[in-house]
Amino acid sequence: MNETTLIVKKEFINKYKNGYPLIFKEAIENIKDLKKEGQIVKIIDKKNTFLGRGYYGNQNKGCGWVLSSSKKSSIDYKLFYDKLRNALYKRKRFYYSKDTTAFRVVNGEGDGIGGLTVDYFDGYYLITWYSKGIYAFKDIIIKAIKSLVPFDGIYEKKRFDENGMVIDQDSYVCGRKAPEPLIVKENGVNFAIYLNDGAMVGVFLDQKEVRKSIRDKYSKNKTVLNTFSYTGAFSMFAAKGGAITTSLDLAKRSLDKTIENFNINNIDYKKHNIIVEDLFVYFKQIKKNNIKFDMVILDPPSFATSKDNSFSAARDYKDLVKSTIEITEDEGMIIASTNCSTFNMIKFKKFIDKAFEESNKKYQIIEEHQLPKDFAVTDKFPEGNYLKVLFIRIY
Ligand code: SAH
Repeated sequence: MNETTLIVKKEFINKYKNGYPLIFKEAIENIKDLKKEGQIVKIIDKKNTFLGRGYYGNQNKGCGWVLSSSKKSSIDYKLFYDKLRNALYKRKRFYYSKDTTAFRVVNGEGDGIGGLTVDYFDGYYLITWYSKGIYAFKDIIIKAIKSLVPFDGIYEKKRFDENGMVIDQDSYVCGRKAPEPLIVKENGVNFAIYLNDGAMVGVFLDQKEVRKSIRDKYSKNKTVLNTFSYTGAFSMFAAKGGAITTSLDLAKRSLDKTIENFNINNIDYKKHNIIVEDLFVYFKQIKKNNIKFDMVILDPPSFATSKDNSFSAARDYKDLVKSTIEITEDEGMIIASTNCSTFNMIKFKKFIDKAFEESNKKYQIIEEHQLPKDFAVTDKFPEGNYLKVLFIRIY
């Protein structure tokens, strides 16, 4: 087998012995031997002890993934086939649901294939390649998927760019072309999906449990402000639960997309508010007018820049919560969510605690969510469980 041997620095040997899947520059002695993405690598320690086998592929996180800890393994069709089969098998019960027709079937390192995710949208598969390295295995991975499951069509996103942006406009791979929009269901609520429309196709599937809980337990007769609302997914669930919603997003597209989602759910969008505005501007306005909401949902991107403001979750989440407390009713609720992978749940809770302390308010965390079951995670890579959501009751 044509493979490059990488030598792990002493201080990182135990990490890899314990199954850490990510290969990163600082851990490797001879990083200069990495030449071409997709190249197969064997990692060893200085005494030539085998530590794993994987591939070279540059992502913002690192420069490759270990795919096998078995000395005899090879990185070939059978390896991908077996891993994909296991991943699909684990999601078997999801395919039977009539209420939910969109879910994740392969979640990167959580399913043993770092750098690759596959989502299912009612008959269509969407593959996301996170590096040129994993894309080098495109033919055998797609061949394996084709032989494992029936499908209407396959689409792909190539997120090779350093910022995780897609590099290609056309996402179609094979099979039938998906309708635009393709309507999928999540716990009975419809979402309009555009598989051929940039990196974001219309919904983030990792929030399904959070959305369900908002609808089922907390929305009845409430006023809900959904910030960073994108296509209004949270608003749909809150509205179905009996709330009057206000969806707020800076991007112009959010207006049409949110109306579309209301329409396909038979909800009269005119009874709800959809605002295209910078959150920081909007917060100032409603504070001035003394408007308060029963529930405010915060789901900002990890980083965002607008005309006059920049937001970084790690730096600014505390202040965002402080401003939110001011526009939330007493005994109201804040749903604080982040997908920022540079801090964990413990630290996230500290931001919340500090925000309430500085606001002289008391609170209680009544629900806590991380990634749902279809977004498989491995305890070998805890940072892979990036989603953190807290339901906070103010009192
Ligand atoms: N909460 C959404 C996903 C959020 S994606 C969901 O559940 O589907 C992040 C969104 O934040 C994008 O739509 C982006 O346009 C919006 N955004 C970024 N900066 C913003 C700002 N300063 N004010 C309002 N919206 C912003």
